[in-house]
Amino acid sequence: MTHALIIGGGIAGPVTAMALGKAGMTATVYEAYASGADDIGAFMMIMHNGFDALGALDAQHAVVANSFSTTKNASFEPDGTPLPVRPIGTQRTTFASPRTLKRADLYRALHDELARRGGIIEHGKRFVHTTTDPSGTVVAHFADGSTAEGDLLVGADGIRSTVRRIVDPSSPSPRFVGLNVIFGYTEDRSLPFADDVMRMLRGKRATLGHTTSPEGEHFWYTRLPGEEMSQAEAAAMTASEWRQLALDFFVSDGNVLAADVVSATDDAVLGRGVYDMPPMPTWHRSSVVLVGDAAHAASPAAAQGASMAMEDSVVLAKCLRDLPDLDQAFAAYELVRRERAERLVAYSRGDIRTPNGDWLYSHSIDWEEPVRRVAQERT
Ligand SMILES: Cc1cc2nc3c(=O)[nH]c(=O)nc-3n(C[C@H](O)[C@H](O)[C@H](O)COP(=O)(O)OP(=O)(O)OC[C@H]3O[C@@H](n4cnc5c(N)ncnc54)[C@H](O)[C@@H]3O)c2cc1C
Repeated sequence: MTHALIIGGGIAGPVTAMALGKAGMTATVYEAYASGADDIGAFMMIMHNGFDALGALDAQHAVVANSFSTTKNASFEPDGTPLPVRPIGTQRTTFASPRTLKRADLYRALHDELARRGGIIEHGKRFVHTTTDPSGTVVAHFADGSTAEGDLLVGADGIRSTVRRIVDPSSPSPRFVGLNVIFGYTEDRSLPFADDVMRMLRGKRATLGHTTSPEGEHFWYTRLPGEEMSQAEAAAMTASEWRQLALDFFVSDGNVLAADVVSATDDAVLGRGVYDMPPMPTWHRSSVVLVGDAAHAASPAAAQGASMAMEDSVVLAKCLRDLPDLDQAFAAYELVRRERAERLVAYSRGDIRTPNGDWLYSHSIDWEEPVRRVAQERT
């Protein structure tokens, strides 16, 4: 039976393992960190197409159970004037979405669902490089000196991927998009309860998004224009420094509603620079292939990176299921996925505009449809 070594236990890693399992293959996921539950300040939205991809694996319930509905967008002008409430995404879907959850809860939900299916995630395994033995077996080498063997290796190791350098040693590096993103949580009761809605508190130079969980916890985020910090500088920023950065910004911008949300927050604040990936020349080489942010990270403007990573996972498994060898499977996977993924990167940068987001949200994967036909139609 074909066995895959999957590097990275974030989103694409466990979903790829589930998809390969459904396609009749085995996989082990290797995650660098001891647990996936760090990054406590960040939360994310999973959109219709992400639930569609999970639905192809009968795994959507795992994410639904750990998230809450955020289906409407209510924008406010800087003076507090409300604008018409609009649906987020598309109405053309059967899935209950979009939904919001903490990143750590998403990782945990996917890990638990994979474990329920008998899948394995090994933590504390930082991948460093790979070799191939004379029989064609791929050998993954980890920082602790251990190794693992398989028939293929999937790089699901995120925007700062190590596997990417193996696929293409001259691959481009992530690029800063001129924004720093700040997330916060507060249970302050004085704030409006934003149930099933993202309140978009607009300012002249930036907007703050705010929604409330059913338990009454307010989640907020903002993307502020700013200079790039080094990774060390960003990591050295304390929660209160990120909070003060957001507060000073909104006060100077005259955005009173946004400043009120930040003021009502204590130290549950996290910030970081925002990066995306220029197009990679190729997503695969020999028996190694990339999925998710390792292949095509978009800035989070469209809240789509996780959903796109899930789509990749399902399509890759279908290609491996239906095509006779790795070369053909990886080529078909890249053919099917590349245009859509790169369009999202360009859209998130503001390089292209589209009249609505239906092309993003209405994407649907038919698990039963053979890939051979899809690939031939597109060539
Ligand atoms: C601020 C911010 C907000 C976002 N908001 C949203 C949102 O609302 N909705 C959305 O859909 N997307 C959002 N995204 C994008 C989304 O987070 C990514 O697209 C998504 O996480 C990609 O999944 P992935 O599995 O490819 O990578 P990741 O989730 O980054 O997972 C990669 C995993 O690989 C592990 N790893 C890395 N190197 C190694 C190694 N050498 N060996 C072993 N393991 C390794 C990492 O520890 C990590 O667990 C946001 C991104 C950011 C930065």
